[in-house]
Amino acid sequence: MHLKLDISGFEKFLEIAEKLEKGKVVSEKSWNDLFDTPGYRILIDKEYNRDFFVKAFTLTFNPELKEKLQEELDSSIGRYLKYYLEVKEKRKNYTNDLRVIKENWKIIEGNIFSRATSFLPDHEYEEEPVISVVIFDTDARGYDNIIVDACFTESFESFVSIASHELFHHLRNQLLCYDKDEIKEEEKAIVQVINQIHSEGIADHIDKDYFIYGNIKTPFPEEYVKRFKKYVNESPDIIKKLDSKLQELSDDSKDKGSIGKDLKKIVPISGHPLGYYMTSLIIKNALVDKLIKNVENPFSFFALYNEAVDRDKEAKFNFSKESLLVIKSIEKKYSQKIK
Ligand SMILES: [Zn+2]
Repeated sequence: MHLKLDISGFEKFLEIAEKLEKGKVVSEKSWNDLFDTPGYRILIDKEYNRDFFVKAFTLTFNPELKEKLQEELDSSIGRYLKYYLEVKEKRKNYTNDLRVIKENWKIIEGNIFSRATSFLPDHEYEEEPVISVVIFDTDARGYDNIIVDACFTESFESFVSIASHELFHHLRNQLLCYDKDEIKEEEKAIVQVINQIHSEGIADHIDKDYFIYGNIKTPFPEEYVKRFKKYVNESPDIIKKLDSKLQELSDDSKDKGSIGKDLKKIVPISGHPLGYYMTSLIIKNALVDKLIKNVENPFSFFALYNEAVDRDKEAKFNFSKESLLVIKSIEKKYSQKIK
């Protein structure tokens, strides 16, 4: 398998930033060219608004809008503006970093592929996944294209770690045991939470071991790192709350939509820290082969966690029989690969 590196989004971003800085008008065509690059196209398709990027990039780079920029720093988009101001200073470094990454692509793509598949079974995966580098947030995404923000190019370790995490999502999605479009509206949030805990929990062992618990420089904000660690430590309590909420689903008269919303509130940061905690216990108790074998099935993850608790020397809180039955019945309804 080959990975394709696409830096067209980042390059178009640089062109636009330069025009704005010089006080030149950015034509509709230039904006269209930016949003037609594979990276920005998918971000706009999935979660961002085109007008948001136009506004934020213009405020950041147009020197005539300095006052307006100051005012907006406290607004809802202030977090992004502060980051784009950092990009303004560092973009030349990113350009150099990307040049070095390109020169060493053969080695880097090999590293990304082996890290991402370290938690995946052998399979004929799609031939050439694309990694698109853009400027959007100190983050990354594993959509049809893999999106990586240029701030992760500062070191090979950082770029490889984040890209492997997202490639894991991208490849796992090809194996997923259910079709997301077939989930009933009222159960969408429930299935999403279950899937997030599983997929982020494993993926975080590919990068957060280094970004959060290791020594590589992380572009993730300090506040995120603190919250992540805090919630990992609180996971036994979160499991208790999650378990009693899941049990409510065995009562058919209850509103599944609102239980789904509650589950999302109980499970912090889209399942990352809780999933990380559960996966850690599974790995520690020598169940990693089973974890890989069932990587396509998020419903089986909770019973596997219980198995790890049974093996573990320190007493831990596990999921009740009732909760596991609830999850099993959702699996039976939607899984296309019941074993
Ligand atoms: Zn992820």
